[in-house]
Amino acid sequence: MTALFLAALFATLGIRLWLSFRQERHVRAHRAEVPEAFAESIPLKAHQKAADYTVARLRLGRIVAPARAALLLAFTLGGGLSLLAGVWGQGTRLAGVAFVLSALLLAELCLLPFAIYRTFVLEERFAFNRTTPVLFVSDLGKQALLTVLLGGPLVYGALWLIGNGGAGWWVWLWAAWVGVSLFFTWAYPVLIAPLFFKFTPLRDDELLQRIRNLLRRTGFSSEGIFVMDGSRRSSHANAYFTGLGRRKRIVLFDTLCQVLAPPEVESVLAHELGHFKLGHLWWRLGAGAAMGLLGVAVFALVVDRAWFYAGLGVDQVSAHAGLLLFLWVAPLFTFPLGPLLTAWSRRHEYAADAFAAAHSDGQAMISALVKMYEHNAATLTPDPIHSAFHDTHPPAPLRVARLSKPV
Ligand SMILES: [Zn+2]
Repeated sequence: MTALFLAALFATLGIRLWLSFRQERHVRAHRAEVPEAFAESIPLKAHQKAADYTVARLRLGRIVAPARAALLLAFTLGGGLSLLAGVWGQGTRLAGVAFVLSALLLAELCLLPFAIYRTFVLEERFAFNRTTPVLFVSDLGKQALLTVLLGGPLVYGALWLIGNGGAGWWVWLWAAWVGVSLFFTWAYPVLIAPLFFKFTPLRDDELLQRIRNLLRRTGFSSEGIFVMDGSRRSSHANAYFTGLGRRKRIVLFDTLCQVLAPPEVESVLAHELGHFKLGHLWWRLGAGAAMGLLGVAVFALVVDRAWFYAGLGVDQVSAHAGLLLFLWVAPLFTFPLGPLLTAWSRRHEYAADAFAAAHSDGQAMISALVKMYEHNAATLTPDPIHSAFHDTHPPAPLRVARLSKPV
C-alpha cells in the first residue's frame, strides 16, 4: 500500500507540475498578440494582464501543490495522524469525530499562509481583491464553525452507520450521502450563502423586465432574482441559478451588473437556465451518486484491513481514521479521470451556450463572454492539454466560434 500510495502521490504531483509549466509556456508564447478573433474587442493591455495573472496563479500553484503533497505525507507516513489519534484516544465515537475534524482543521491551518498570500498579494496585485483583513478573519471563523457544526454531526452519523448498519452498512452510508448532498443543494442558497453574502432583490427595472420575459419564454419560475454583494470580497464577476424545486433563485453578482449591459446579463442568465432546462444538474447529481457508490464500495473493502492503515502510516484500525485516510487518498487515484469529467462538463457548457443563443440573443452572449473574460483576466490562449485536465468551461475562442456559427 505504501508503494502504491507514494507512486500515485508523486505521479499526480508530477503531472500537475508538468501541466502547469506547459500552460505557462503556452500563455507566454501568445502574450504579445491578441488572438485574431478578439483583436477588435480586447485591447492588448487587457490581454497581457490576463497572461500575467494566469502565470502568477500558475506559479503560486506550483508551490501549493508540493506543499499539499508534503502535508499529506507528514500526516500519513510522517506519523501526524497517529500522533493525533493518541491525543484523542480510541474510546468513543465522539473521540473519532474530534479526530477527523481536528485533522481537517489542522490541514487547513497549515495551508492558511497560501490563502493569505493569494488574497492579499496576488489578487491585490491584479486589483481583484476587495477583502479586508477583518472580513478575511471573520470568514475563516465562520468556515471553521460550519466545519464543526455541520461536519461534526455528519461524521458522527457516518461513523454510527459504519458501526451499526450491519453487513450492508456501506449501502446505508451511500444513501445517507446522496440524501445529504441533495439537502445541501437545496439548502445552500437559503441557509449557507447568506452567512457570507448579502442578497438584495434586483431593483433595476429594465433588467428585471428582461429577466421576467426570459423566464416566461423558457417556462421557469424562480423564488426571486437577487443581487449578491460579491464585490465586498473580490471584483470577479459571475452569475448563478441555484437551488432545487421551488427554492430556486437567480443570483447575479453585483460586479456582473456593473460590467455587462442588460441584454448581456440576460444572455448569461439564459445560459444558466439552459443548464437547468437541459437537466445538467440532475446528470451531475446522478454522476456524483454513481461515483459515490463506487467510492463507498471501495471504502468498504479497505476499512477493516490492517494493511490499508499500516501502509498509510496509521498504526491502529478504526473507522474514523479509515474515513479520513480514504477522503484524503482517494483523490490521488481519481485524478486521471479529470479530463473525462471536464470533457463532459465542457459539453454541457456548449449546450447551455446554444440554449442561450436560442432563447435570448447570441450576439449578446458573445459580447458578454468577451467582457467577462476580459474583466476576470481569464486567458484566451490556454494550453490544450492543461485545458483538457483543468477547464470545466471551454476556452473562450472555442465558445465564441460555436456561437458565431450560423445555426
Ligand atoms: Zn455554464
